[in-house]
Amino acid sequence: VKQRIGLLFGGCSGEHEVSIASARAIAEALAKDGNDNAYEVRLVYIAKDGSWHGPETAEQVLQTAEPLVTRGNGGATLARLPVLEQVNQIDVWFPILHGPNGEDGTVQGVLTLMQQPFVGSGVLGSALGMDKIAMKMAFAQAGLPQVDYMAVNRSQVWSNACVLPKLCDRIEAQLGYPCFVKPANLGSSVGISKVRSRDQLETALDNAASYDRRLIVEAAVTAREVECAVLGNDMPQASVVGEISFDSDFYDYDTKYTAGQAALQIPAPLPETISRQIQAYAVQAVQAVDAAGLARVDFFYVETTGQVLINEINTLPGFTATSMYPRLWQASGLSFPALVDRLIQLALARARETP
Ligand code: ATP
Ligand code: MG
Ligand code: MG
Ligand code: MG
Repeated sequence: VKQRIGLLFGGCSGEHEVSIASARAIAEALAKDGNDNAYEVRLVYIAKDGSWHGPETAEQVLQTAEPLVTRGNGGATLARLPVLEQVNQIDVWFPILHGPNGEDGTVQGVLTLMQQPFVGSGVLGSALGMDKIAMKMAFAQAGLPQVDYMAVNRSQVWSNACVLPKLCDRIEAQLGYPCFVKPANLGSSVGISKVRSRDQLETALDNAASYDRRLIVEAAVTAREVECAVLGNDMPQASVVGEISFDSDFYDYDTKYTAGQAALQIPAPLPETISRQIQAYAVQAVQAVDAAGLARVDFFYVETTGQVLINEINTLPGFTATSMYPRLWQASGLSFPALVDRLIQLALARARETP
């Protein structure tokens, strides 16, 4: 009997296009024959306005890679969610949504309420993994080393004229320049700026505040960027470590998604002790936020001091054939289709656990 997989993609987030690309790759792997588990794929698409669409529209979006043009007030009506219509026709859901409204526990909450098995982290792991402020608090509690940072609320940025200068004074005193300004809940570097002056800081805060109520400002480190993939539920395993190199100022959206801008080196040329350190931290990071199934953990390696700092966790990392997550597993001996297979089995195993 074929297992019916509900592939949920798109999403009301700045990473909508990335999700379409990830879903294409996963749909292709699921459709591939040649492994014992043949799957039947049911597509559900969430448009940028938050409206949900069934197989016909979803298929078209997946084929053309063109987001559905919506009029902008589609917020999902619970009674009309395709999820509800398909609840009895799906064996496992695979939400491949990046960023808010999908990677953050919201969709995981709907699926949990519906008692549907799904790939990846539950509500807590997703929410803690998405919010960089909450994530850093969990990492600190677990003893993981990270950069100095400050939590900022949008109200401080958009308030009357006397609050913002005081905030900037505090950022300059505590973190200095250069520093990174980020929306707390996003990904793909959307809304992130590296700033070197008061002027740039004010602009960056205003820009980040347009994406999220919660912002984070971090001291900048000069370091190599390395990532590790984690797979599993309560006893997760770490992949080999990969490194990203690029010429741009930092690993921004264009560098991530323009072909030829970034080079991935797998495995990363690192001393054995450093690789092991990173793998151990990656597993600890997954456990610190209670992630499950899959996660990609991003690190800074300061070569001059030998220091490894954790940057962040992504509980639904980019998942195209050329994305870091599947490539790290491929280099660790697990092919793309075998990885997708394994994730579905992990989802079923979690659903079978006693609550
Ligand atoms: P992802 O697409 O991996 O989810 P993201 O949007 O969550 O990314 P981060 O990983 O936090 O964003 O940061 C994006 C990039 O910005 C990093 O890969 C790095 O190049 C740069 N960067 C972020 N924070 C720092 C920092 N504190 N010091 C130096 N570089 C940084
Ligand atoms: Mg991220
Ligand atoms: Mg991300
Ligand atoms: Mg990152």
